[in-house]
Amino acid sequence: MAPVPGSGLAKGLAVTLRTMTRKTVTEQYPDAQPELPPRTRGVIGLFEENCTVCMLCARECPDWCIYIDSHKETVPATTPGGRDRSRNVLDRFAIDFSLCMYCGICIEVCPFDALFWSPEFEYAETDIRDLTHERDKLREWMWTVPAPPALDPGAEEPKEVAAARKAADKLAAQQRADQPGQEDRT
Ligand code: SF4
Ligand code: SF4
Repeated sequence: MAPVPGSGLAKGLAVTLRTMTRKTVTEQYPDAQPELPPRTRGVIGLFEENCTVCMLCARECPDWCIYIDSHKETVPATTPGGRDRSRNVLDRFAIDFSLCMYCGICIEVCPFDALFWSPEFEYAETDIRDLTHERDKLREWMWTVPAPPALDPGAEEPKEVAAARKAADKLAAQQRADQPGQEDRT
């Protein structure tokens, strides 16, 4: 059957009218920054103070793109007759983001909460070698890591907070006991 003349035009106009009334989903990036969810996998930040150089992240990384160098340092015994201890000191921590596949395994396996996702994604480079971020750059990313979500109102207090509160209460009670007249004056 031959098509009705003008039916194609009518169909096209119908599509135009339909889409004109819908909310646009186009992001005007880079003129407007996209609103990314807080758990976006953009780049990895390193909180160096928490890293014990256990090497777990480097071992578990499926792309072998985490480079860690360290050396051992002897910590002298603190008590007479005690034994000296040794600890690992971090010399290099780098992630090659040209190889990373953003699986998040390194962050999951880190037992000491030293690695975090940041939603930052604007770190394209013209030289691929610049995609290897050394420890200073990884530390800088920590400033862009979003704060963890607040606890549910009925959630149990974290153990660390409960322990700190108990210690503070004990100290305050001790101080009150040491200065019995103090309470009367206040
Ligand atoms: S996100 Fe995955 S691929 Fe990237 S560094 Fe971590 S473990 Fe390796
Ligand atoms: S797993 Fe965590 S603590 Fe261990 S080397 Fe990696 S970042 Fe450091």
